[in-house]
Amino acid sequence: MRLVSDGKPLELLVSTDLPRPAKGEALVKVDYCGVCHTDLHLIEGSYNLGNGKKIPTGLHLPVTLGHEISGTIEDISPDAKLRKGDRVVVYPWIGCGSCRKCVTALENLCEGKPRFLGVFLDGGYSDYVLVPDARYLESAEDIDPKQAAPLGCSGLTAFSSVRKCNLGQDDTLLIIGAGGLGTIAVQIAKKSTSPRVAVADIDDSKLDLAKKLGADYVFNSAKTPEREITAQLKAITPNSRGVDAAIDFVGIPATTSLGFRSIGKGGTLVVVGLTGGTAELPLALFPLRGVQVLGNFTGTLKDLANLVDIAKKGLVSPVVSEVYPLEDANAALDKLNRGEARGRILLKT
Ligand SMILES: [Zn+2]
Ligand SMILES: [Zn+2]
Repeated sequence: MRLVSDGKPLELLVSTDLPRPAKGEALVKVDYCGVCHTDLHLIEGSYNLGNGKKIPTGLHLPVTLGHEISGTIEDISPDAKLRKGDRVVVYPWIGCGSCRKCVTALENLCEGKPRFLGVFLDGGYSDYVLVPDARYLESAEDIDPKQAAPLGCSGLTAFSSVRKCNLGQDDTLLIIGAGGLGTIAVQIAKKSTSPRVAVADIDDSKLDLAKKLGADYVFNSAKTPEREITAQLKAITPNSRGVDAAIDFVGIPATTSLGFRSIGKGGTLVVVGLTGGTAELPLALFPLRGVQVLGNFTGTLKDLANLVDIAKKGLVSPVVSEVYPLEDANAALDKLNRGEARGRILLKT
């Protein structure tokens, strides 16, 4: 299912030629591919900076989208550590390999020409995906292939976001947005240092799901004013200090504002969601509270390896809401766009 022109539905391309991997590359038969909110931005062709400003996504069309890939190795060089038939999860955030970030293993922040699968190179909305190097495959034996697919983006991003919060015991974390990422972040946070976890969303059914997954407190931010939520968050933290960290998985002015106003002294706000806009934040509170506001984009290959280890132990399992046939990718994207996905929607080839 290919993106052929900006803003248009994906198009089914029927090809009978199987790509042949060159030396070092690997060919993976896609089992499942997660449908990510980023795909909606990629289809639109731009990211929203607010005040009418946009930046282009920089895609070269046509391209096959899909970056949350679980699959089975179809063809791999004999000297690779994995074998044909092995089940894998694919690390899609592949950099140029030679820039300053790539040589320090921060390929997700590549400053050269990134080769992100499903963004700049053909991805997993397909029967097969060609992976530039076998080292981007993590063995996913012992993980349900449905649960393995979302690890490559929503799982990875939730994992690295929680890691950036540097939570200690007795800390409180606010998670804003209980969709595909937020629901994984709740599990990761509770299974790591087990902080108090509060979740805010505008949808009661998503909040119910967050509670089932271990959230201690939930807030409906459509029904409760920001001031009231921040007051209640203070009330549940020791010495009314406010939350120690907040992760904004939505990324609109209202959610970033809620996150910023909820963190206490020395707190951390991690902005992850790409919905966009421009936030107005009281600047004096940055120094007065000594807070830090970070952005987080996906994660590193090492993060994925660590996350896969946790998933193998059964400590984190992405919530899969439904599975659509690959050729129904547009319907799946529409459903996500309407905010109706309760967890991750997958495509199945
Ligand atoms: Zn994604
Ligand atoms: Zn690079």
